Amino acid sequence: MSKNPGDKHHLTQMAKLELMFHKDLGIDEFYKELIKFIDKNIPLAEGRPLTIKELLKVDDFTKSYFLNKTTVVERWITRAFVLGMLVEKRERMPQRPAIDIEQLPVRIKDAVKKYSLSPTETRALEWSHYQGGRSLVNATNDTTNRVGNLLFENLKEAKGHRAFRKALEEELFTDKGESGRNWKRVAISETNTALNQGYLATLKHGEFAMGYSMPDACDYCATHIKGKVYMVIDPNRVDLDYENLDPRTAKYRQISYIYSHAIWVGKSNIGRSSSPRKRKDPDIGNTPDNLEPREHHERWSPITPAHTRCRCRVIRINPDTMFVKDGKLEMKVMDEAGYKQWYERTIKPIKEQFELYGIKI
Ligand SMILES: [Zn+2]
Repeated sequence: MSKNPGDKHHLTQMAKLELMFHKDLGIDEFYKELIKFIDKNIPLAEGRPLTIKELLKVDDFTKSYFLNKTTVVERWITRAFVLGMLVEKRERMPQRPAIDIEQLPVRIKDAVKKYSLSPTETRALEWSHYQGGRSLVNATNDTTNRVGNLLFENLKEAKGHRAFRKALEEELFTDKGESGRNWKRVAISETNTALNQGYLATLKHGEFAMGYSMPDACDYCATHIKGKVYMVIDPNRVDLDYENLDPRTAKYRQISYIYSHAIWVGKSNIGRSSSPRKRKDPDIGNTPDNLEPREHHERWSPITPAHTRCRCRVIRINPDTMFVKDGKLEMKVMDEAGYKQWYERTIKPIKEQFELYGIKI
């Protein structure tokens, strides 16, 4: 991943928010504290292997350091979510007041109260928080393992203090180190997911949204997200369960269509793959006769953000007054013919299909 938290984002507040979340995770402080802890407790100079007890002590140190960041996760996910809601509301206003992210609530319950969140909005915020919590736990476990491995290597080869510091610096602060990249990913992914959830939660069933990408989005996002139009649906009002259906049935094809043309709060690609084919036997490599196409429910479907570094989001559109041209929004009055063509090709088929499936808008 080449981008850092707070690198260019279409929303300036969001760039700031990513960066503040990353800073609040306290990687610098962790580095200092861990070095202190190891100098005090681990016999690096002796070069003998760690006892299990010593290893557990180090593991505990790393785990408790990061798992103490749960309030940090709640703070920035709540703020990103609320920012998403405010951005959407602001787009409907003629005058667009500035948003100061540091004035936004830090607790879920305060956000619920201050903005009188509906049950759906509250669930979406809780869902984003849960997702962020999982990322915190995963990144913590990963960093714990990696710190343990660095120690193991250091002791095995009796490299000493200086080498340990250097290896730890590389692990935490450079793009060579998986831990450093992981924590960046947490800061960028989780806030962008929460922003999109907040934005989506304020949209109504039957509204349309357009995928909005940065100019340097990857090929997948440029093809499947940028300028694409989706219907926003309420997932409680539409049957979205197709994992256990036979892919040859009409019902399966219907739900596949919905996944490809609709977005909703809580939609995710967890358990799905971006690769079009899968191995028949997971223990054999990617030989031509061991590969078969993935079914629709096993493949990625459009969500924003799809990737950490691309930072795509959705924007509400009114297909009666505006349309999408080259991935950008244009007003109908500027190009009536272009609008008509776009409407016929993009909006009309989606509306017709959804009507055919009995989805009431
Ligand atoms: Zn992408």
